[in-house]
Amino acid sequence: MKVIDHIRQAKDTLVSFEVLPPLKGKGIGALYNHLDPLMEHQPAFINVTYHRSEHVFKKRPDGGFEKVVVRKRPGTESICAAILNKYNVDTVPHLICGGFSVNETEDALINLHYLGIDNVLVLRGDAAKNEMSFEPEPGGHKYASDLLKQVVDLNDGVYLEEDLRDSHKTGFCIGVAGYPEKHFEAPNMDTDLQYLKRKVDLGADYIVTQMFFDNQKFHDFVARCREMGIMVPIIPGLKPIYSKKQLTILPKTFHIDLPADLANAVHKCKTDLDVEKVGAEWLLMQSRELKKSGVPVLHYYTLGRPQLIADVVGQI
Ligand code: FAD
Repeated sequence: MKVIDHIRQAKDTLVSFEVLPPLKGKGIGALYNHLDPLMEHQPAFINVTYHRSEHVFKKRPDGGFEKVVVRKRPGTESICAAILNKYNVDTVPHLICGGFSVNETEDALINLHYLGIDNVLVLRGDAAKNEMSFEPEPGGHKYASDLLKQVVDLNDGVYLEEDLRDSHKTGFCIGVAGYPEKHFEAPNMDTDLQYLKRKVDLGADYIVTQMFFDNQKFHDFVARCREMGIMVPIIPGLKPIYSKKQLTILPKTFHIDLPADLANAVHKCKTDLDVEKVGAEWLLMQSRELKKSGVPVLHYYTLGRPQLIADVVGQI
């Protein structure tokens, strides 16, 4: 079932989770162990992230280094099918521009459609680790809006081979990313929102936000979207703090602020367990307020502490 239909049919705020494919060599059992405590809370859907290949330098026996291509977390499409099959829950594969030609994207979409997956979250992806800024693949998409257009075309039965007749229409529900604290490359919030509106005008069904720790930023973002005529559901993305290191890693990686009250409370913690307690309380406070404000879905980034999130969701 499509995410947008879950939202339309819901009588109350829904819950959804984002998971990562297991690291290569771990086996899918590691992912099931991660998901099991979360599944008790009957999520409407599960997102599975996409991780492109990276160039890494590997030491050779002669002491020199060799540049090799490594994909640490392969398998997004098949993991979505496996989760759907095992738990009977809808899945949302993340699909990125980076590393894909348009032909490879079309093949990936056809595979997803054959696997019975009705949803995609369409993203640009970040710059490859060895590049300063995002570079599309030769013959690939530069922006999420270009990739989105390809999915919309396929939903209309328009494939890359123009001479296909009576071609089958896929029916993907399309999500896109939004940034309550602005995407880090955008010159200002207004410009970023113009591009977000473009994605919605092209056919995005809903928006999922980058994580945030101050609900007011989410409410302001929603208000500005509505003023601009972006009327699709906006799903807040939430993540718990569970280690002191996150106070610097999260702002650096995701270009977000951590409120002073939260940062001060974490600083005062003596043990990691104390940090987890502070993080869980903050997440519970955020979740309760967002639910009260009428958000359609609470979407949790579960990397790191699935049990902590399961406990918080259990209290909402
Ligand atoms: P876009 O919408 O293409 O925007 C990128 C930048 O370009 C923005 O600054 C925007 O303002 C600007 N822009 C957009 N269109 C134009 C245009 N036509 N002309 C000029 N500028 C333009 N990354 C992964 O690799 N794998 C994942 O699984 C993944 N999951 C994510 C899930 C969520 C919910 C979020 C919020 C992010 C996720 N990301 C993931 C990270 C994402 O790929 C990065 O944030 C990326 O830098 C931007 O992606 P986007 O889809 O927002 O890009």
